[in-house]
Amino acid sequence: MAERAATCAGCGCGCDDIEVTVAAGALERVTGTCMIGDAWFAERTVDAPPVARVDGREVDFAEAVEASAAILGEARLPLVCGLGQTDCESQRAAVALAERIGAVIDPAGPVVDGTVGAASQAIGLSTATFGELRDRAELVVAWRADPVASHPRLLPRLRLDRAGRATAGGDFDRTLVVIDVQRTATADEADAFIELPPELDFEALWSMRALVRGVPLDRDLAARLPLDGLGQLADRFRACGYGAVLPGPGLVASAAGYVNALALLALVRDLARIAHVVALPLRQDGNARGAEDVLAWQTGYPAAVSFARGHPRARPGEFSAAGVLERGETDAALIVGFDALRHLPPRAADNLRRIPTIVVDPRATETAAAARVAFATAAGGVHREGTAHRMDGVPVPLPAPLASARAGDEQVLAAIAARVAGAEGT
Ligand code: SF4
Repeated sequence: MAERAATCAGCGCGCDDIEVTVAAGALERVTGTCMIGDAWFAERTVDAPPVARVDGREVDFAEAVEASAAILGEARLPLVCGLGQTDCESQRAAVALAERIGAVIDPAGPVVDGTVGAASQAIGLSTATFGELRDRAELVVAWRADPVASHPRLLPRLRLDRAGRATAGGDFDRTLVVIDVQRTATADEADAFIELPPELDFEALWSMRALVRGVPLDRDLAARLPLDGLGQLADRFRACGYGAVLPGPGLVASAAGYVNALALLALVRDLARIAHVVALPLRQDGNARGAEDVLAWQTGYPAAVSFARGHPRARPGEFSAAGVLERGETDAALIVGFDALRHLPPRAADNLRRIPTIVVDPRATETAAAARVAFATAAGGVHREGTAHRMDGVPVPLPAPLASARAGDEQVLAAIAARVAGAEGT
């Protein structure tokens, strides 16, 4: 029996203080995780599917690579999507493959994680690390975010849970405010709760911009907004030395998500004139931030990039995975670490079922079961070492506490790229 260090990538917190006990080549015990983290390790260590399948038939690795290269080589506009649950090394291989085959690539996962990243290119993003928020933030606003449920260790790590706020001490009080459609587990931890229907996010953010700058509001036009609560929040921001907004998926995972993200970042920019205020978008997939960073390094854009014309072009919405699938524009898909059929909008999922798909994922998912080609890989952070970016952008190593003879996501993607290149050269 051996104790080993591990990192959990069950959500964007990337907790790297996990310990696992290994016995007879399997995980005996995992210590330090929350329930989501337990599930993350469990679904990567249950009985693994066959290494490679084509049309449900077990095949050897080379045959599956050959079939994948044929599908992608024949496609008019292939789509590469997912990526938020694989490591940065595999993300880099996926971008290289997407460029080679002239694909649309969208790292956005189940909750449109890339929306704030795209908006930040238009407005700019003042942000901070966990450590800075933990040590300096006096006021934190969770806007349509429920980290107690979605990122269970986040509030304790930032000393923002009730116990942490009470014992943080130091020179300032800490205040947690939640804005959401109804009370949540995080609202129960908070000092104040502002109830806001989801369709009023943009109006509320725009009104906050006026309130913090002292611009008079037409209260009749803003009658549906909780102006008393928003006014008190504006006063809190004006009075604090260091504030932070944690936008959650509820703010950006909607048709209005992009304009909501623009409004939020504009508010943070306005606030920067009177206080030090940052935004830290919450990311659900463990390496969603890494996917965005890797794509930006390689193309200049953090989300929804098309290589169809031989050079990268990015348009939020137009080149999103859901968008190209809903419009029926793509005729083949390579899906990496993403159970797309469970998470895409219904119309996009229906169209995905109609085209040939290649799935690269260590898990047995509905999407892998329906794929033309499915690779069951060695899991990054369990069987393969790698790197992930926490949602605050800090890289964390993913150790490999277990051994596996299987290829990882990166090796599969590189093998497909090499076969595509070989086919092009013949
Ligand atoms: S908070 Fe997130 S990263 Fe940390 S243990 Fe839980 S699921 Fe894993």
